[in-house]
Amino acid sequence: MPELPEVETMRRRLEPVLTGRRFETVEIDDARLVRPYEPDEVAAELQGERVASVERRGKYLILRFETDRVLLVHLRMTGGFRHGEAAAGDDPHRRALVHLDDGTDVAYRDVRRFGTWLLLEPGELDAYLATRLGEEPLDALFTAARLGALLARRRAPIKAALLDQRTLAGLGNIYVDEALWRARIHPLRPAESLDKKELQRLHRAVRASLEAGLARQGSTLRDYRLPDGASGSMQHEFKVYGRGGEPCDRCGTPISKSRVAGRGTWFCPTCQTVQAGNTQAASSSSSAPSRSRRQSSV
Ligand SMILES: [Zn+2]
Repeated sequence: MPELPEVETMRRRLEPVLTGRRFETVEIDDARLVRPYEPDEVAAELQGERVASVERRGKYLILRFETDRVLLVHLRMTGGFRHGEAAAGDDPHRRALVHLDDGTDVAYRDVRRFGTWLLLEPGELDAYLATRLGEEPLDALFTAARLGALLARRRAPIKAALLDQRTLAGLGNIYVDEALWRARIHPLRPAESLDKKELQRLHRAVRASLEAGLARQGSTLRDYRLPDGASGSMQHEFKVYGRGGEPCDRCGTPISKSRVAGRGTWFCPTCQTVQAGNTQAASSSSSAPSRSRRQSSV
């Protein structure tokens, strides 16, 4: 699923394409994209709207029109936009097509069909997002102290707390695993148990992981592509995600894979430490249980 770096990369590519452009015609070919509304009605509402800005919040793309209405897009598993030549031709996975007033087309394609478009009237956006999204992790106002406040009194594993979009907006399975590795924190540690130093490490690690993803224009797994059809390259830079059995970059221990919060989870059983007394976490590291147990008693 596209996470913050992938959605932000998409936003940066769409911004010059869409800003100032009018939606001349809009075709929506998949009722799932806009349900419970009728595709033809939504398409008719969008026709004639001129894009004022292309924004992002968490994993949402926000097309803000000059009328102050917004089209709120969530790409979910496999959604994405294509522009120019990449938008042309027959595509069985194309769900919508927007013809712009400069003569170019923007196509929305989605293989798995979980993505959504929601047209909101002026003033509706903030309330809609407020109940769904927490802090923007790359925002200057997001600090280690703020992260500590968000995690306080939460007994859930840190991985689950970070996947919850109401904690930090935009993190998913990939960048949570990467950030926890950088911070040297075991994914099963109770969120509330992190001390000040660990919170500082995690705060830096979350930002560094996302920045690394942005610098490489996201990771291309399955169907994620940039609007011109190009791929990101972050998948070649992962420290733990998808690297089960390969040596840890820091200590050489084979990366372990387990399941946390219902998701495949990769971590280094040596340098991502489990605190004393947390036997549940210690027994979960499948490939090097004795090593983890030894560490947990330090
Ligand atoms: Zn390691």
